[in-house]
Amino acid sequence: MPLQDAPQNYEDLSDEYGFQFRFYCEVCNDGFKTQRIKSQSAQKSKRRGFTANVLGAIGLSRASDLASATEDLAEGGYEREHEHALQVAIREAKTRFKKCPACKQYVCNDCWNVKKKKCSQCASE
Ligand SMILES: [Zn+2]
Ligand SMILES: [Zn+2]
Repeated sequence: MPLQDAPQNYEDLSDEYGFQFRFYCEVCNDGFKTQRIKSQSAQKSKRRGFTANVLGAIGLSRASDLASATEDLAEGGYEREHEHALQVAIREAKTRFKKCPACKQYVCNDCWNVKKKKCSQCASE
């Protein structure tokens, strides 16, 4: 799904247990992290892994644990959760960054020219 009218300059910090993103200002590259959102499907597979251990699955290596957890995540809507988490993160980013009407980029408050209502780069042109 293409993201429209959203900050594009971000890094995905998500892992199998939760979702988090770091957005960067297009001008100064200053970043901020969005709030971490726990993955529900990860919680589920963690519980299942625990049960398997209790049942005496001796010799279950961490790697195979992880593999089965990853399988669960694929079934359990991890992708859907990830997509939703990204939308939430983008909403958060939009409250922090301002969109420049000239270059259409998202910039932090430090790089925003209040008087000209443009980013500092476009304001200086
Ligand atoms: Zn900035
Ligand atoms: Zn601009």
